[in-house]
Amino acid sequence: MEDCIFCKIIKGEIPAKKVYEDDELLVIHDVAPGAPCHVLLLPKKHMRNIMKADPDAVKYIMGKVGDIARTLGVDESGFRVVINTGIDGGQSVEHLHFHLLGGAKLGWPPC
Ligand code: AMP
Repeated sequence: MEDCIFCKIIKGEIPAKKVYEDDELLVIHDVAPGAPCHVLLLPKKHMRNIMKADPDAVKYIMGKVGDIARTLGVDESGFRVVINTGIDGGQSVEHLHFHLLGGAKLGWPPC
């Protein structure tokens, strides 16, 4: 089966603007930012969505959020972490990812 687009980015087959990388996690800038600061936290292991996720991977990534927010300079101003899931959740790429958005006052609610 062909790799998904995020697996291709993780393998270096598609370019991306990297923010952070370690053995389990890759953080990249979103190609179509929805806020002044918009990055994606991608587990290196392919998991379709949060319903199919390894809880240890989720725990690891959530544990990195603060460091990433500090790196991006939004730790004091505030930010949002979003996991779109499935059709109603608006998930367009079927590889678990966490959006980290900030850099401006974000709107709420989503509909
Ligand atoms: P979602 O709609 O929650 O599945 O989010 C997928 C996100 O991936 C969207 O915000 C897209 O803009 C972003 N995206 C898609 N392709 C790329 C890419 N090649 N590099 C960076 N971000 C991407």
